[in-house]
Amino acid sequence: MDKHTDKRTDKRTDKDTDVIIVGAGVGGLVLALSLHQAGIACRVYESVREIKPLGVGINLLPHAARELDELGLLPALDRVGVRTKESIFFTRHGQFIYSEPAGQAAGYAWPQYSIHRGDLQMTLLAAVRERLGEDSVCVDHRAVRVEQDESEDASGNAGVTVHMTDSAGVERPPVRGAIVVGCDGIHSALRKQLYPDEGAPRYSGVNMWRGVTRCKPFLSGGSMVRAGWLSIGKMVIYPIRDNIDADGNQLVNWVAEIESPEPAVRDWTRQGRLEDFFPAFADWHFDWLDVAALIRNADAVLEYPMVDQDPLPTWTRGRMTLLGDAAHPMVPRGSNGAGQAIIDARYLAGQLKRLGLGPAALQEYDRARVAATTKVVLTNRSNPPDAILREAYERSHDRPFDRIEDIISRDELQGISDRYKQVAGFDPAMLAARPSFL
Ligand SMILES: Cc1cc2nc3c(=O)[nH]c(=O)nc-3n(C[C@H](O)[C@H](O)[C@H](O)COP(=O)(O)OP(=O)(O)OC[C@H]3O[C@@H](n4cnc5c(N)ncnc54)[C@H](O)[C@@H]3O)c2cc1C
Repeated sequence: MDKHTDKRTDKRTDKDTDVIIVGAGVGGLVLALSLHQAGIACRVYESVREIKPLGVGINLLPHAARELDELGLLPALDRVGVRTKESIFFTRHGQFIYSEPAGQAAGYAWPQYSIHRGDLQMTLLAAVRERLGEDSVCVDHRAVRVEQDESEDASGNAGVTVHMTDSAGVERPPVRGAIVVGCDGIHSALRKQLYPDEGAPRYSGVNMWRGVTRCKPFLSGGSMVRAGWLSIGKMVIYPIRDNIDADGNQLVNWVAEIESPEPAVRDWTRQGRLEDFFPAFADWHFDWLDVAALIRNADAVLEYPMVDQDPLPTWTRGRMTLLGDAAHPMVPRGSNGAGQAIIDARYLAGQLKRLGLGPAALQEYDRARVAATTKVVLTNRSNPPDAILREAYERSHDRPFDRIEDIISRDELQGISDRYKQVAGFDPAMLAARPSFL
């Protein structure tokens, strides 16, 4: 398949391929698996020297699980994640606001997963190495710049050259391909090349402290809980690993979110301090879970600011495009960050299979996915599912109430949830009717 020559040396290197994928996060690895499924050669270049299972929990909604099902990965996910059974909302006083079934319990053909980001990434990485070969992921390759051919060569080929360094900053031999896809996350070098004047990610005014704690199952054993509200302290809590010991404990992921004037440092591995956020949750002792104890007993606490970027008009220039957080970083209020990266990857692989390895496929991908993800980014700012918490908080004036129905109807709350499903592409009827991207 490789027919791209390095113009400066006029020699192909063994690292040349058809599709160059920059970044071995969730988006880059799903793209590699999808291209392989479509019969298209690719190679992944990752900046870190060793891919480690970093991060804490994420949720994969049924639209993303469908794509991983088409890649034959659900048995592997079942070995590491938890199938989410319900989504449930409470006030900070522990009063019930709203719940709805999730995944297959809600009638979808696909499950919803609550999973450690590291477990998901390592599952995808193992599948890539097994299906595409050990050398399909090159670590310690940081992309710094992409060059595109100005015209086709004598055999009608045109392509891209990606310049990279190792982690010490030493230049590596450039790599040639037909196209390049920047899956290099929120600090994307390729996005910076396309938009050099764009500022730093936009702070939402909310900082997050994330942790995992070993504890007994609570509620259904597969409940995704959201409680409180951002101005006074909001918690998201869900189990991400089952039966982690002989006592049947689960690994439970939690995220504390509080409005704060100053953003935390934008580093996924930065340690957080209990005193910066714990006071907001110190009296959260619900009959179904002692939230204060959950926080205090965490293995470790990480902090990160809730950030996104204004949507871009396009991610594509010629033979280069962006995918996932590099293309559309979003505030994590709708469980869609990893999911939209997965859908980008599947849609792009489908267009490359249909239209060939050139700008036309990238344009079609851009046309469909910029519009779709712009809506998700903007809705995550204004009316994601946790707007249910906002409505209960504002209408109750943060005072305990007897019955939620006296404050807001179930229909109105369900409307918030249903509208988000349509925006993000996991409305049950829409998802069942949509043909496969590949
Ligand atoms: C270390 C880490 C921890 C995270 N933890 C969480 C979490 O706990 N909860 C959560 O909701 N989200 C987390 N995220 C973000 C989440 O993974 C993404 O929002 C989502 O999965 C979309 O994935 P992505 O593939 O677009 O980006 P990412 O998952 O961010 O992957 C981008 C990849 O590109 C690599 N990369 C970056 N620059 C270059 C370059 N110049 N050249 C080559 N490779 C490059 C990165 O090392 C990374 O492996 C984390 C991301 C990272 C990188």
